[in-house]
Amino acid sequence: MSIPKTAKAALMVGYKKPFEIGEVKIPDTLEYNSVLVKTNSATICASDVHLWEGDEAGGFGDSNSFPRILGHEMTGSVVALGPGVSKDSVGQPLKEGDRIVWTHGFCGQCYNCVVERTATNCLSRRNYMFGRATEYPYLVGGFASYGYVYPTSGRIKVPDGIPDEIASASACAFRTVISAFDRLGDLDDRHSVVIQGAGPLGLFATAIAGRKAAHNVIVVGGPKRRLEIAKRWGATHTIDINEHPDPKDRKEIIMGLTDNLGPDVVFELSGVLAAFTEGMDMIRKGGRYVVVGQIHGKTAPFNPSLIVAKHCTVIGNMSGVTEHYYRALQFMKNHWDTIPWMDMISNHYPLEQINVAMDKMKKWEEVKPALTF
Ligand SMILES: [Zn+2]
Ligand SMILES: [Zn+2]
Repeated sequence: MSIPKTAKAALMVGYKKPFEIGEVKIPDTLEYNSVLVKTNSATICASDVHLWEGDEAGGFGDSNSFPRILGHEMTGSVVALGPGVSKDSVGQPLKEGDRIVWTHGFCGQCYNCVVERTATNCLSRRNYMFGRATEYPYLVGGFASYGYVYPTSGRIKVPDGIPDEIASASACAFRTVISAFDRLGDLDDRHSVVIQGAGPLGLFATAIAGRKAAHNVIVVGGPKRRLEIAKRWGATHTIDINEHPDPKDRKEIIMGLTDNLGPDVVFELSGVLAAFTEGMDMIRKGGRYVVVGQIHGKTAPFNPSLIVAKHCTVIGNMSGVTEHYYRALQFMKNHWDTIPWMDMISNHYPLEQINVAMDKMKKWEEVKPALTF
């Protein structure tokens, strides 16, 4: 395959500034174990919006490196394999033309990778979206027509039959949710679950909770379009925050559905600051609260004695590792006929219309839009 000298990219040139479409160098040499791909699809995540707005609580990189390429949910077809690459991260043969999703770079050689075995906390994590587009290897974000897979990035082949754009969504929201359910542990038909948030994280969590046969899967969120998807994906009940704007009303409905005990398990997947206080308030004694969506720089008033008085467990989950990307795609494949996954992809935009797409994301007018190249 002939590889051009440059790729087309949406460049972030400053916080809240319109993206500029420009040409970015395609690396002409590949590091050992790296891969060059042609991007088939990149979906937009709420994290991209946070980064664009300058709300970078994660501290994952140099915040002031511009121009840079956002986007971390992408599917690409292999155009060149770096030295040493012949397989994906689970041993499947990899060749030019194969579709893959890929992870941030996890070193596999630090204390957290090796001893704690939590690569998501890798001390030498190599992230996408932070490197300058003018510095090798240039293409370290999804909103570009070519992409560079770091030597330390996991890479997983996309199963046949799974479209590029929903595979892309699995490479962030879904892998995070798979990891969050691992962190939660035991979940079965004894349990009632509240899912705060009906965005991509909430919808993927609904699909899993539904398949684990939790006897209540109550999704709290909005707008209506998202709650309709939640019902199709496995929610037993939905609570529209626009119809019930007062958290007291929402709690009352949830208490009614849980024998006045409150839910056994709450997932915070909305990213809304106030959701945390609401979740802690509703969870039953002895319950478990999995907090995933809160990625921002804000603080919430909170009485820590609630954790003691409720004898509850608060579990954080950040992102996921290569295993979770693989399992997200497998789950999707295994449940392809029973869950209308493509419901999540709310629109397609050519890369040149990224400013329109980001603006709509900001206004909650999208679920998961996909960029095309
Ligand atoms: Zn994301
Ligand atoms: Zn590491």
